[in-house]
Amino acid sequence: MTEITAPKSPVTSAEFADEIREQLKYSQGVTAEQATAADVYVAAAKAVRNHLADAWFTTQADTVNGNTKAVGYLSAEFLMGKQLENALLNAGLTEQFDEAVKSLGFQPKDIVDAEYEPGLGNGGLGRLAACFIDSLASLGVPAFGYGIQYKYGIFKQKFDEDGKQVETPDYWLNNEEPWGHIDYNRDQKVSFGGEVVEEDGKKVWKPAWSVRAVPVDYLVPGYKSQRVNTLRLWTAKSYDEFDLLAFNKSEYMDAVKPQVKAENISKILYPEDSTKVGKELRLEQQYFFVSASLHDAIRVFYPGQDKPDLTTFPNKITFQLNDTHPVIGIPELMRILIDEYGYDWDTAWGVTQKTFNYTCHTLLPEALEVWPASLIGELLPRHLEIIEKINEQFEAELKAKGVDEATAKDMAIYTGDSVRMAYLATYGGSHVNGVAELHSQLLKDVTLKNFSDAYPDKFTNVTNGVTPRRFVKLANPGLSDLITEGLGTDKWVSDLEMLEGLVPLAQDDEFVKKFAAVKAANKHAFVGFAKDHYGLDIDENTMFNTMVKRLHEYKRQSLKILAVISKYAAIKNGTVSADDILPRTVFFGAKAAPGYYLAKMTIQLINNVSKVVNNDPDVKGKLAVHMLPNYNIEMAQNLIPATELDEQISQAGKEASGTGNMKFALNGALTVGTLDGANVEIRERVGAENFFLFGMTVEEVDKLYADGYNPAKYYEADPRLKQAIDLVAGGTFSNGDRNAYAPLVSDWLTKDWFMTLADFSAYADIQAEIEKLYRDPLEWNRKAVLNVANSGFFSSDRSIEDYLERIWHTGPLA
Ligand SMILES: *Cc1c(COP(=O)(O)O)cnc(C)c1O
Repeated sequence: MTEITAPKSPVTSAEFADEIREQLKYSQGVTAEQATAADVYVAAAKAVRNHLADAWFTTQADTVNGNTKAVGYLSAEFLMGKQLENALLNAGLTEQFDEAVKSLGFQPKDIVDAEYEPGLGNGGLGRLAACFIDSLASLGVPAFGYGIQYKYGIFKQKFDEDGKQVETPDYWLNNEEPWGHIDYNRDQKVSFGGEVVEEDGKKVWKPAWSVRAVPVDYLVPGYKSQRVNTLRLWTAKSYDEFDLLAFNKSEYMDAVKPQVKAENISKILYPEDSTKVGKELRLEQQYFFVSASLHDAIRVFYPGQDKPDLTTFPNKITFQLNDTHPVIGIPELMRILIDEYGYDWDTAWGVTQKTFNYTCHTLLPEALEVWPASLIGELLPRHLEIIEKINEQFEAELKAKGVDEATAKDMAIYTGDSVRMAYLATYGGSHVNGVAELHSQLLKDVTLKNFSDAYPDKFTNVTNGVTPRRFVKLANPGLSDLITEGLGTDKWVSDLEMLEGLVPLAQDDEFVKKFAAVKAANKHAFVGFAKDHYGLDIDENTMFNTMVKRLHEYKRQSLKILAVISKYAAIKNGTVSADDILPRTVFFGAKAAPGYYLAKMTIQLINNVSKVVNNDPDVKGKLAVHMLPNYNIEMAQNLIPATELDEQISQAGKEASGTGNMKFALNGALTVGTLDGANVEIRERVGAENFFLFGMTVEEVDKLYADGYNPAKYYEADPRLKQAIDLVAGGTFSNGDRNAYAPLVSDWLTKDWFMTLADFSAYADIQAEIEKLYRDPLEWNRKAVLNVANSGFFSSDRSIEDYLERIWHTGPLA
């Protein structure tokens, strides 16, 4: 890697204060004396954005004029988190900002807190996209993130009096949003519906309606790279705002119909995670942003050219498809090349296949997107024709390869009834990757086995990562300072494998004690955060044990809550003596998709267990449980550094990678987890003796499915489990109502698809080992230090370097 230098501190804090004052005066229309924290936040955001502008322009110019292939990261979600602190860090303005706002009479923290977190993603997949564009910019690789600027992001989660999840809309654009720059002059037209006709022997699509895709540009500053890339999020506008004729007839609702229809496309993020939602609007969203992005890339790389030579397109930019959501881009590029630019099929296919690559994010078959052919035919008739033709060509290719007919049929992209987007992506691009070693292997062995047999060279792995800027440097300043002290340099922030230099320090008791002090300070800080944000009183002299992630059956929040209930019962019954109880505070955070019945019921159960346990004087000081509302990036940044034990307890073979697991290890939490996703690689790197492993392996899970799984057997066999489930069924957490959780209880006892019950005993047993270690703070913290020291591999910088080498075949700008 080339040596990178920090930008010279461009201004003094007094000058930066003046810049903020100027923004307040000329842009906000308030004086420094009138300004609130929210005003100063907007002004500071604009001031820092100005500092990044020149680097943004040079990066764009070098991207277009240089010979370095760019990366286009196509993703329906970018879960960015708050921007101000990150922008200040990367602009080298953190200290100037702190001093400047103090001189204006504010606390830096209050200004940073005034930012409203944009929630343009559901969870791991969207956060991965955000980490990746941060790393691309930090590595100096020319890149565009392309997505949708949803008007409403992921819902805000609250709980009602019964502990049920209540979803409220996320009005994130209700106040001035200073980061996005809307560029009406770089718009694109995206069309839908209508029919395909033949004119002069050529297919011509006559769409029925169109929307105007307007880009909103976000700066993506690299850390110490002097590069600023672009995140271009599309917003949908109507061409015919208003039907005056209807208005004049007093048909007011009809008058705004065209506008409503068009603008609906970017109105809301689908609040789904890991499940497929077959909604017409969702297909419209996908096509909307992908079509606009492909046309935009042509505009950017062939400026002002009427007849560009698009056979060079794959040398200009390579597109990564983040899951199947943008896969409609494959037939769209074919259509653009053939219908709009007159290329023949084979040339178009060569360009298209070279341009795209596909990241698969799941193993759950129900999460692989399949669209009804009739829906595609209605919305995108020309694309359906192209997909049919791609499928014909694919079948011929398989036949030529000697693939038998039955197998070829199983592999069909187009079945006559439906279109399988994962298969289209696999055939239509150059590479397919899974997101952790185990996941990539299972893709080849199971999910996409036939494809891997027919096209073995396409398949590769890139293990996920997280950005050390946000998730260590910003989230955990105490640990960051200690790491810098230990290594004698802060270069680790952009070269995270340097953390290995801490391995010898794990044997230095003084260093380990300093680490323990940082953890204690982070716990103390989180107690304050929890008091401010949730009104909770938390005992910081307890073990902080955290499970935060989307609520999904395969992630098995049920396993955790059953173990908590069992512990509660043991304390109540006196089966454990007071001396043997290790005081713990258990934190959950999880949103459930609004239509996901069992997931929502699990949230309700956790909330009501929390109520009972936290109000029971018998367990006071020994066990507390909190379901924190609205898990988001801000909560992650505050809770993860304070966590001592984290939970990664999905059923083996179901979590593709996980990235929460990486954030925790990098912040010195010990993990209790299964051999699933990236847990496998984390454990390999941090050492088996520094990781609490339990539960069935993928092979054992498969065997149990094959042998016939009977969860009731496990319920009968372990009295701890039986007691926990009986308490739920008996109404202990529902004021005596025995029906409240009946669907959940019945699922556990008769179905339990993700084998929570089968893994319960191993999970309950390993708690003793965890608690024994925790009673020896020096040894616990030594292992925590070793987790930090050996987790440098899980930087998203490393993930991006793997993509560059294995898939994109490009690199930093010269
Ligand atoms: C990291 C992160 C996730 C992903 O967590 P997993 O445990 O990998 O599922 C989800 N949501 C937020 C807010 C995150 O920061």
